Amino acid sequence: MRIEIVEGDITTQEVDVVVNAANSALLGGGGVDGAIHRRGGPEILAECSRLRATELPDGLPVGDAVATTAGRLPARWVVHTVGPVWSASEDRSALLAACHRNSLHVAAGLGAESVAFPAISTGIYGWPLESAAEIALAAVSEPVGSIRTVRFVLFGDEAFRVFSEARSR
Ligand code: ADP
Repeated sequence: MRIEIVEGDITTQEVDVVVNAANSALLGGGGVDGAIHRRGGPEILAECSRLRATELPDGLPVGDAVATTAGRLPARWVVHTVGPVWSASEDRSALLAACHRNSLHVAAGLGAESVAFPAISTGIYGWPLESAAEIALAAVSEPVGSIRTVRFVLFGDEAFRVFSEARSR
């Protein structure tokens, strides 16, 4: 798999799958979640609501992933995953890695070849960027099905620099 690191807005990426750093409720939120729903339009929320009414009555567990339409985004699908909230007293790294791996498996199940990830858990959920970059890059190091390209789309030059440096280590 080819790993790309770019600075930018994930909602404008021309890829098969855009991964959303969602919350368990799947009903929208701030940060990248808010941006995806705003730009993607109401079809995404409508599908999330349907999922909550059917197979996910208790919401999406932390570390899991589920696909919906990408609505009006250039992407074909949004894969929603729920990152762990950072904890200084408990190691939740395995859950952050699981978000990445499960998102890739859901994307591969759709036949996707390209997947864009934001820096999951590093916003409202407070995960330190250096640690998140290391975990994310390690989690996407093994090939998964049809996936040829994984692109990390970092919001701001600080996140871009941290991911670029983590990759060159
Ligand atoms: P979480 O709740 O998982 O921490 P956030 O959405 O708060 O999710 O933040 C995750 C990361 O996404 C942060 O690094 C934030 O700067 C970044 N981000 C916010 N908006 C966008 C966007 N439009 N494109 C890419 N990344 C974004």
